[in-house]
Order: sequence, then C-alpha cells, then structure tokens
Amino acid sequence: MSEIVKAEAIVLTKINYSDTSNIASLYTDEFGKISVIIKGGRNPKSKFGMIVDPLNYINIIIYKKETREVQLLSGADLISHFPNIKEDLNSMKYAYAIIELVKNLTPESEPHKLIFKGLTRILSLLDQSREKPEILFGRFILFFLKEIGYEIQLNKCSICNKTGLKNKSLGYNYERGLLCDDCRKENITNYSIEPELFNYLFCLKNNEQISSLTEKITKAANNFFEAYIQFHVTNFKGIQSLRSFN
Ligand SMILES: [Zn+2]
Repeated sequence: MSEIVKAEAIVLTKINYSDTSNIASLYTDEFGKISVIIKGGRNPKSKFGMIVDPLNYINIIIYKKETREVQLLSGADLISHFPNIKEDLNSMKYAYAIIELVKNLTPESEPHKLIFKGLTRILSLLDQSREKPEILFGRFILFFLKEIGYEIQLNKCSICNKTGLKNKSLGYNYERGLLCDDCRKENITNYSIEPELFNYLFCLKNNEQISSLTEKITKAANNFFEAYIQFHVTNFKGIQSLRSFN
C-alpha cells in the first residue's frame, strides 16, 4: 500500500542515480529525514530536477510506502531558494555545514518538528544576513546538539554548580561537561576553553548579541564543536563543508 502525502522539505543532498534520475536526501516537517527518487531528474527539461537542489526549501508530494527506503517524488514546488546565501561564499560554506550536520546526525524517518523549524529559520536568517554566518552557525549548532541529545551545557560548572564563569579559563570534560578552575584540578580536561572562547560560546547559547568576533575565536569554536561531536558520535569525520569552501 502506498499513499500520496505532502510535506515541506529542505534539500540536504542530491546525487545522480542511473542515467536519468536523481536521489535526494530531504529533511521534512512530517517525516524527518527521507530519501526520494526523482525519475527523469537528470533531464535538463525536468521541472523537479531544478527545484530539488541542495539548500532549497520546497513543498513535495510523494508516493509513500512504509517498506520502501527510497520514496517516489511525484511533485515539488519552490518555497525559497535562498538567493542571497548562494551569492556569498562564506554564507554558502556555513549553510552547507548546517545541512551536512542535519544529514549526518539525524536518523532516517524520525520526525522532529523543532529541528525542521530551526533549520528553515537559520537558513532564512543566513539569507537575510541578520548576523555573520559564523555566528548564526554557532547558534544553530548549539540548538541542534541539544535537540539530538548532546547538549553543551555552559551555564554552570558541571561538578560544583558554580555560575558566573565569564572571563575565566575553563575546561570541558566531554562526559561531565564544563569544569571551573577548581574542578579542573581533579577532573580530566578534554578541551581547554580560554575566556574569550567561553564568552563567545556563552553569548551564542544564550542568544546574546555578539559585537566583535575574530577569526581566531571562530576557529577555536568550530574546532571545539567538531571535537565534541567526534567524542559522542562514532565515525563522525568532522564538518567537511568548513574545509571545502576555503
Ligand atoms: Zn566547579
């Protein structure tokens, strides 16, 4: 039994399949991450081939069969293709880093409306250049890690519960969490967090305004995120998009 269903989706990836078709990975509001085949999608005249392209925000109609791993796409139209992101290399880099994370760290066919909402929202903020791409990426990744069960806790020391840790040199233990200066002495630090980095992460997490940002801090934050995910997710190979756009 197959049924005809509609959903909204962000296109994560698209690959060629056979001489004529494409297979795309989509993150949808109704079904979470799914794969669809676009029959005839490689034909330049194919309507859907153009619309179903990475980063695009689309409406889809599919013939859905529970037992099938790849669903058949029967209709698609565009909600937004985020034109401003595509005109700026740095925005592209971070937009691709975001869809790469969603592609690699979410399970197939598990709907999660908040992740879908967060994903469409962050792409639209990137498109409007509301903040620097690296800042929007940082805000998204902290939200996303929380939603998939790997929250980075930054509000207090994970051992003694001390708060007010701004401007201090701290440590991060990937299993326990944040370590204050005292607790670092008795617990293993997996990652040292300098005051500048901590202040930045704290602002990202608490949605505070960030007025200045150096390349050094961006790099340190991205390295921290990657190392943190690597610890929790086996076979995670880093965020390739952060490298391939340089
Ligand atoms: Zn402590």
